[in-house]
Amino acid sequence: MSSPQSTERLGGKLIIVSGPSGVGKGTLLRRVRESGLFPLVMSVSATTRAMRPGERDGVDYYFLTREDFLARRERGEFLESFEVYPGGALYGTLTEPVTRRLAEGKWVVLEIDVKGARQVLKTFPDAVSIFVQPPSFKDLETRLRGRGTESEESLAKRLAQAESELASADEYKYRVVNGRLDDAVADLTAILKKC
Ligand code: 5GP
Repeated sequence: MSSPQSTERLGGKLIIVSGPSGVGKGTLLRRVRESGLFPLVMSVSATTRAMRPGERDGVDYYFLTREDFLARRERGEFLESFEVYPGGALYGTLTEPVTRRLAEGKWVVLEIDVKGARQVLKTFPDAVSIFVQPPSFKDLETRLRGRGTESEESLAKRLAQAESELASADEYKYRVVNGRLDDAVADLTAILKKC
């Protein structure tokens, strides 16, 4: 494993955002990005999961075959990589685009799971970690069903995962409850202003 590095020394900031699938991380981050208050750029993760309708390769994710993903992992190209759902697809953050954007002075946002966050904090201990929580578990289930992107099996996996992820919220430096979107946008903005 590589030794700890400083994002400040590279010139930018690294912002880790975690939270259960369906909590609305994407919408929240989009709103804060659109405010133009911070030089935020989203890191594009690699995954072996199937593309959903409307998703674009290289924009939402780099969609890789399992073989390609594993070869890149073998070559040490990932800052972190995990099977987010047990027995499921692989997800990972490629190191090169992240360090390149940091060197450009950007605030690079990693939308990754709890395991990935722990791994990134080992390499970049000064990364800012933020956990996005639903107002309640029931609310999360409603949102995930409403999104209509998952099969019952995938939904069950995501809800089980959500329960264990929510138990890790305390590991994060900051927590944001995504109930009313405008309030969550204001909370996240306030956190970024002080970090
Ligand atoms: P989805 O399949 O809904 O796009 O993403 C499922 C979950 O995978 C997200 O909630 C996010 O936390 C996690 N995820 C996405 N990209 C990465 C990544 O690069 N690394 C890790 N560890 N988790 C990721």
